[in-house]
Amino acid sequence: MRVTVTGTGYVGLVTGVCLAEVGHSVICYDVDQPKIEKLKAGISPIYEPGLEELIRKNLDQNRLSFTSRVEQAYQDQEIIIVAVGTPEKEDGSANLCYLERAAEQIGKSINRDTVVVIKSTVPIGTNEKIIKQIRGIVPPEINVEIVSNPEFLREGAGIEDTFNGERIVIGSNHDEAAKLVEELYQPFSIPVVRTDLRSAEMIKYASNTFLATKISFINEMANLCEKMGSNIEDVALGMGLDSRIGHQFLRAGIGFGGSCFPKDTKALENIANQNDFEFKILQSVIEVNSEQKQKLFVRAKELMGSVTGKKAAVLGLAFKPNTDDVREAPSIDLINSLLNEQAEVVAYDPVASEKMKSIFEERIEYASSPELAIEDAELAFIVTEWPQIKRMPLELFKDRMKTPIILDGRNCYSLEEARSARVSYISIGREKIIHFQKVKR
Ligand code: NAD
Repeated sequence: MRVTVTGTGYVGLVTGVCLAEVGHSVICYDVDQPKIEKLKAGISPIYEPGLEELIRKNLDQNRLSFTSRVEQAYQDQEIIIVAVGTPEKEDGSANLCYLERAAEQIGKSINRDTVVVIKSTVPIGTNEKIIKQIRGIVPPEINVEIVSNPEFLREGAGIEDTFNGERIVIGSNHDEAAKLVEELYQPFSIPVVRTDLRSAEMIKYASNTFLATKISFINEMANLCEKMGSNIEDVALGMGLDSRIGHQFLRAGIGFGGSCFPKDTKALENIANQNDFEFKILQSVIEVNSEQKQKLFVRAKELMGSVTGKKAAVLGLAFKPNTDDVREAPSIDLINSLLNEQAEVVAYDPVASEKMKSIFEERIEYASSPELAIEDAELAFIVTEWPQIKRMPLELFKDRMKTPIILDGRNCYSLEEARSARVSYISIGREKIIHFQKVKR
């Protein structure tokens, strides 16, 4: 099929490349010209395992092309998949300006019957508004239909998830259009959930807010464990073995970040508020998360009194491992708090430092290895559980840091390891291990 994917971000680029890989003829369109130039040269503008290889392979085989020219993108295509960003506005609602701009360009450019697929995460009722907008622009002889097809891939596993997803949601009020989109995805052999537009839009928000709820639940449980002398790791294991509960998303930590959960929880809360519905669980999920993001900093202050002038290593900047995405990452909250109290911050991340530079610029130092980041530090915060961070021997912290105080937001080490390494080790939902600190000479 001839397909255009609008927006070459984490979702659009991965989707476009994977559709080309299964044999479709795909044009990826983006308004960001430098990004398109990179892509034309076979360079991925984002870090996503395996992506660059697939881009190059499909460029070589002429199934994939990139453009920033709107006519080239939208003329003569059967399907246009829109995967532009829907970031959070100040009031928590989803900003639909990129989507509306794309709809306008589609309406002005298409020259044949086309199915427009909205993959971006959008508030309930948006697909109906967008199709109305497009139909208001296109000449009457052209038939346009809309399909809601929310995306569930995880950053860092985007390609794997596209090929082995657990479901494809196809929402439409038009049977033929839905069938065409089902056909598009048929090579992936993934179960399809067919529904109407509004239910498809809701499935995406319901899924993300449910996962966020699991995270906030286990984090809140961890906070209670700390008070009660229970160990959250054992509690989560004991809970997760119950197949009705499961292990996934029961890892206590320093809160969820990323480009989806924070904005989607707030957007759904906003949708509920706008419709006179008080979504009480969701309000708590959001509140618990924003407190949890401050947790390591609060613990550091409790321990040290003040962090002013202290050298703090921040290990991991991306909101999770295997991505360079720092949007809403807990590291940002932590670094802001440390800088506000005039701590000296040295950060390490294997791939996300460049993106973080656009936020903190030269206000923090960027180390090229975790070992260099902790050198002479008085505090080390473990924020992202990258393999190269969590496999660092605790002895290394003791040898390199001025005072080996580790605040681990991802519970990377066992308490036994920490005890025998004789470091101070504060983790989430577990006993604190405090050692008398010897200052490194
Ligand atoms: P992103 O910010 O990484 O990429 C969006 C891209 O769209 C950018 O490259 C931007 O230049 C481009 N763009 C903006 N306006 C455009 C226009 N008019 N025409 C063409 N291109 C345009 O976004 P993302 O993370 O890929 O997310 C896209 C959507 O998918 C969002 O709604 C998000 O909530 C949803 N989603 C994201 C993920 C994820 O893991 N990132 C997962 C599931 C769903």
